Amino acid sequence: MEEDRAPSRAGGLVRLHNTLGRRIVDYAPLETGHYRLYTCGPTVYNVVHIGNLRTFVFEDVLRRHLLARGDRVTQVMNLTDVDDKTIRGAQEAGVSLTEFTAKYVDAFFRDIARLNVDPAERYPKATDHVPEMIDIIHRLQERGHTYESEGSVYFRIATFPEYGKLSGIDLKQTRRGERVADDEYEKEDVKDFALWKAAKPGETSWPSPWGEGRPGWHVECSAMSMKYLGEHFDIHTGAVDNIFPHHENEIAQSEGATGHRFVEVWLHAEHLVVDGEKMSKSKGNFYTLDDVLARRDDPAAVRYLLLSVPYRKKLNFTWETLAGAAAAVERIRSAAVRISEVVSAGTPAKPGAFPAEQRAALFRSEFASGMDDDLNTPEALAALFNFLRQVNAAIDEGSLDSDGARVAEGALGFADRVLGVLPKAPEVLPAEIEERIFARNDARRRRDFAEADRIRDELSARGIVLEDTPGGTRWKKASAV
Ligand SMILES: [Zn+2]
Repeated sequence: MEEDRAPSRAGGLVRLHNTLGRRIVDYAPLETGHYRLYTCGPTVYNVVHIGNLRTFVFEDVLRRHLLARGDRVTQVMNLTDVDDKTIRGAQEAGVSLTEFTAKYVDAFFRDIARLNVDPAERYPKATDHVPEMIDIIHRLQERGHTYESEGSVYFRIATFPEYGKLSGIDLKQTRRGERVADDEYEKEDVKDFALWKAAKPGETSWPSPWGEGRPGWHVECSAMSMKYLGEHFDIHTGAVDNIFPHHENEIAQSEGATGHRFVEVWLHAEHLVVDGEKMSKSKGNFYTLDDVLARRDDPAAVRYLLLSVPYRKKLNFTWETLAGAAAAVERIRSAAVRISEVVSAGTPAKPGAFPAEQRAALFRSEFASGMDDDLNTPEALAALFNFLRQVNAAIDEGSLDSDGARVAEGALGFADRVLGVLPKAPEVLPAEIEERIFARNDARRRRDFAEADRIRDELSARGIVLEDTPGGTRWKKASAV
């Protein structure tokens, strides 16, 4: 795919639905052209399911879209490797916490790589950041937000009047003063929550001013996000299940400790259901990526399905919707192949040719404005298929010339920077490239410049750029898009 950059829209506004305040905002980052993004990562106690993967793909699309605009992104995704679930899992498996979580960390990275999720800048582990968590608890203690009970430290929600502003729970309806020690609980159980939990026999623990223990899950994300992104940053994401209590508690802890605003925009991905029902192991409709690929070995189709439904809508996974996604990916791929054939064929321009520049510009602006509208992927995809229909029709009637095809290829590459469903260019072997350079030099000696140019174009279509220098011809890979 030819490298192609759209005119930069860096620094402009992106329309996003902020869960905080439940409204659409036209957002520009705190630092011009640079988004700081925290994405809650997996709890590494099992292999993630396709519902979790939907959230990770949504975050990847968000990241890719901001980058495609020409902005810079610093994304941090934590790995929760100590909490109630990981500790329970390690105890049941009879292995150390580190040994238990390591294999699920590997499985997670393998899954997101198969779905072509681009890596974040950082993947901090909770167990590497306990001193930072202790520091936050200490700051909360100094500001009067905590109390101790039997070696554990709790956040007193009554000391934070804005508690509930993200999830919309009504503090007046709650029974204050009761505590909850569990990391996860329901909205009906709005209570003071644990920042630090006293060690139980056999549990992994760390020393602290309050004795041996371990952090609560929520404080982990406050500590790791603020360490790497600063105490006030742009976007925080997760699944809708994270809104309460996890993100509500993160706000209380972070703003309680610093005394100022924590995050500007909160984005939450809706649930994925299977055949219209909540996934559950007992119903037999609980799928990991391996389960899905065992039945249909097409990770790009899975990625396409996960991103094709707007992130704020429930996604219904069925084998039929997956087949539909596979067909859509195939349409994009076969158009890409046809376009590259026209590029290689060297068809000259002629009167009445397909107006590629004009159509591609219109397509790019429609695609980008769909994505700028709270990541409206159906709108962006509709623009893509409309463009591909026009290009296919032009190829059928022979009105697409090679220059036009190169423009179409660039436009398709522009869309795929966000979609990530086209196969990457196959690796080219250096020996093969040297052979083609030799053939090109030979053609130039014969003064067959048409052949020499044809070889240059052929290599360029494979992502190899030639440079003729006084010392001979050098080659390099075109920089990654
Ligand atoms: Zn989190």
